[in-house]
Amino acid sequence: MSLPVQYSIVIPVYNEEKVIEQTYGRLKNVMESTKATYELIFVDDGSEDLTSEIIKNLRNQDETIKLLSFSRNFGHQIAITAGMDYASGDAVIAIDADLQDPPELIPEMIAKWKEGYKVVYAKRTKRKGETFFKKQTAHLFYRLLHASTDIEIPVNTGDFRLLDKKVCSLLKKLPEKNRYVRGLVSWTGFRQVAIEYERDERVGGETKYTLKKMFKLSWDGLTSFSFKPLEIANYFGITLVLAGFVYLAILLWREFSSVSSLSGWQVVLDIQFLMSGIILTTLGIVGQYIGRIYDETRDRPLYIVGETFGLGKKESPREKV
Ligand code: UDP
Ligand code: MG
Repeated sequence: MSLPVQYSIVIPVYNEEKVIEQTYGRLKNVMESTKATYELIFVDDGSEDLTSEIIKNLRNQDETIKLLSFSRNFGHQIAITAGMDYASGDAVIAIDADLQDPPELIPEMIAKWKEGYKVVYAKRTKRKGETFFKKQTAHLFYRLLHASTDIEIPVNTGDFRLLDKKVCSLLKKLPEKNRYVRGLVSWTGFRQVAIEYERDERVGGETKYTLKKMFKLSWDGLTSFSFKPLEIANYFGITLVLAGFVYLAILLWREFSSVSSLSGWQVVLDIQFLMSGIILTTLGIVGQYIGRIYDETRDRPLYIVGETFGLGKKESPREKV
């Protein structure tokens, strides 16, 4: 019989063969120093390289390693969710596999948790080795999200954080499909605290967050926690109607006061462009929300597990909640 686990570390991995051993080494060192029982849950998000094989090999020498493999790439947020679904620790810590989030911060997080905080998140004061574009778009996105929602979602934090078992079990009950995990964590409330750190460079390989994935994450964040985009679309519409009335009044005035009329087709063409652009944009925003409603109503499982090692159950605990 193995002892109950105190800490579960959740590590989403997607094509991380270059870094996995190093990550494991550093995590192992840190966790051994805590003198507690722990498990390292690697969630393989459909890697096409040797990631899974390397983890299985490591597991032959170390029983604290557990592996959950998806049938395909479902995405980072879903991988974290699955790891949390399977975690059995009293506190669960999610961390990226590329060592951009230093595992050495974990004992500090644990100390805060012991003080009674249910969520301890790591806030980046600096981001090293990331492109100017990434830093700027991230900055803009966090400000935008902050301005559009009433839920206090901390800026400049990723998913590197510690969650109490209680918060984790609440997350398990949230069925939504297009997940923005850090937003959901904030939504649960509870006492939260930040610890600050400088984000390192990736130790190997390339970023697995393509522009498309980043864009999806931002939209999920915005649409899950705010109706602002819809409101803005609405304001656009109202402004246009008002402008239309004013323009009509001007035209009528011209007609009756017999001021020479403009050659109209250029104006018409220009307005046509403007109007159809605005209508399509607005429709697109509405569409984004409808697409998400469609996703929820179809109610497909959030992820499909291919194989598990060391976790006992093959199907997701999510199916039973
Ligand atoms: N990741 C994942 N699925 C994906 C993309 C990324 O599980 O579809 C993992 C990846 O292996 C890493 C973490 O999510 O552990 C963060 O990804 P990455 O470091 O590439 O993102 P960045 O730090 O560049 O934003
Ligand atoms: Mg990274």
